[in-house]
Amino acid sequence: MVYIALGSNLGDREENLKNAYDHIIGSEKIQPGKFSRFYETVPVGGPPQPMFLNAVLEMQTSMEPHQLLEELQRIELLMGRIRGEKWGPRIIDLDILLFGDRIVEDDTLKIPHPFMHERMFVLEPLVEIAPHMVHPVLKKKILQMYQELKNLNQQGLQK
Ligand code: AMP
Repeated sequence: MVYIALGSNLGDREENLKNAYDHIIGSEKIQPGKFSRFYETVPVGGPPQPMFLNAVLEMQTSMEPHQLLEELQRIELLMGRIRGEKWGPRIIDLDILLFGDRIVEDDTLKIPHPFMHERMFVLEPLVEIAPHMVHPVLKKKILQMYQELKNLNQQGLQK
């Protein structure tokens, strides 16, 4: 199974996530699986900016990882995403989180997504639809990664 993260913090965020979903599943090389509910999250890093709406989509695809990345970037551009400031506000952000147990590490693509285990806005929707999926590098289930990050955040709050 392949997992994609969707995020938006500009304009009608719910509509943006739904539009992105429609574009993604419009590809004949993609068979959609579960789609998480939408989670409102605080932006991490970058300049001060509006809250995000995040979701995760499960799919199967006959595309190779780089082809899928190109397809997602085509959809981002189609939806009017302007590549501005790194980690700045965006109409739509589409990231590949996991591609089965494939590991990709080059200049344009890193799978598993390098920050996914540190980000609640990824793990919360992902644990909803794929708690038993195993991260191929960390060799941990999503559920365990989610619980560890939650504990870490709670310890941080207690300090
Ligand atoms: P961003 O501005 O956050 O959308 O980052 C986009 C850039 O990250 C693209 O130029 C991609 O080449 C690169 N990238 C590396 N790994 C991934 C991944 N797993 N999913 C999406 N983009 C990736």
